[in-house]
Amino acid sequence: MSMNETKSIAEMDRSSVLHPFTQLKEFASGKMGDPTIVTGGKGIRIHDARGHSYIDGFAGLYCVNIGYGRTEVAEAIARQAYKLAYYHTYAAHTTEELAILSDRLVRMAPGKPSKVFYGLSGSDANETQAKLVWYYNNLRGLPKKKKIISRECGYHGCSVISGSMTGMSFYHDHMDLPFPGILHTGTPHHYWGAEPGETEEAFSRRRADELEKLILREGPETVGAFIAEPVLGTGGITPPPAGYWREIQAVLRRYDVLLIADEVICGFGRTGADFGSTLYGMDPDLVTVAKGLTSGYVPLSAAIVGERVYDVMEEAADRVGAFSHGYTYSGHPIAAAAANAVLDIVEKEKLSERARSIGLHFQRRLKERFAQLEIVGEVRGVGLLGAVEFVADRQTKRRFDPQLKIGARVSKAARDRGLIARAMPHGDILGFAPPLVVSESEIDEIVDLAYRATKQVM
Ligand code: PLP
Repeated sequence: MSMNETKSIAEMDRSSVLHPFTQLKEFASGKMGDPTIVTGGKGIRIHDARGHSYIDGFAGLYCVNIGYGRTEVAEAIARQAYKLAYYHTYAAHTTEELAILSDRLVRMAPGKPSKVFYGLSGSDANETQAKLVWYYNNLRGLPKKKKIISRECGYHGCSVISGSMTGMSFYHDHMDLPFPGILHTGTPHHYWGAEPGETEEAFSRRRADELEKLILREGPETVGAFIAEPVLGTGGITPPPAGYWREIQAVLRRYDVLLIADEVICGFGRTGADFGSTLYGMDPDLVTVAKGLTSGYVPLSAAIVGERVYDVMEEAADRVGAFSHGYTYSGHPIAAAAANAVLDIVEKEKLSERARSIGLHFQRRLKERFAQLEIVGEVRGVGLLGAVEFVADRQTKRRFDPQLKIGARVSKAARDRGLIARAMPHGDILGFAPPLVVSESEIDEIVDLAYRATKQVM
């Protein structure tokens, strides 16, 4: 390591790192304090350079599903690095770990998977999905069928197209997004969106009707795909209302619109099923995975291409030539080795089933502790994803003044008590997504710390 002898780690960071999602002036001026220097982690806990230990109730950014410090994965990474640190996958080259991983993903992914294309992040995988939609419809002789519909409050990344798919305006502001041709439809959040007395089923039908109207307004011959997370994540950790996916898929089928399931958070057990699509009866044409694929140990994402799309691509190959899309690091062998080691753990320790059973306990405890609190509007979640939403008035659902930053204050109070629970970027929401290896007693500790932090702020 090349160290600058005269500067501390915090000083080097402050003077040279451009941090994502950080108020730049507050950070530069020191108002936010020093950066937290995370130095190690084991199981569900991390610690920092000051010697503080935290329960990571958010698994990093919903990714460290197998927990920190798993030596099996570190060893698999090292073995591959010693053997062959890099080779590319262009023009029919491969590595052993990559072929094994791909075979595994095709066998386990939802829908009718045919092939796997690799990237490094959820954002670039969704960018690939958009290109696949355009390519597929060009090859079918439908060059107008290119628009992609996502949902308000959906999160799909922050590159040009994936950032446009993301349905929260603060991700677009001052960045010239959304890109033309990316549209948004209503978010499926019953608590906020339903009319008084409207059932979940009726609300789902209304959202599907709105989607249909949007497709008809644009012209079905111009709409190529619909992208959505099975459980809406960063936009609020919101499981779909009853009947939602059945109604939505009926509309998509009617107008020959592809379904892209963004499984970046839900994939590999988070919801208590292997995929969110499995849990909600979705039959996607394209599936995006990242995060849990390697549990964050190294960057890796995948766009899993279903038969419907892939068959058209192969069929057209004599006419259009090579599939001209790929990255230097598509299918990096070290990332593939890490993914295989992670998926071995997910299978051996039955982490999906575990997320389902411990998840039931988690959802119950969250409701028991929070549902009656005066400032809590809704407690929701599925598996090991959970959220508590704060409101100023439970009767009228009046929101808190955003200046009060209630969500951020509860999150800060939790952190001071040794728990990381995320203040979600949209609304006053405290979010939870602990590693899937969390135990029942650790769940009790997480809920208890969050409860005491909330009481402190109330
Ligand atoms: N899709 C979903 C559902 C996500 O939650 C995220 C990130 O949180 C992304 C895509 C983007 O992934 P990345 O941050 O790896 O680009």
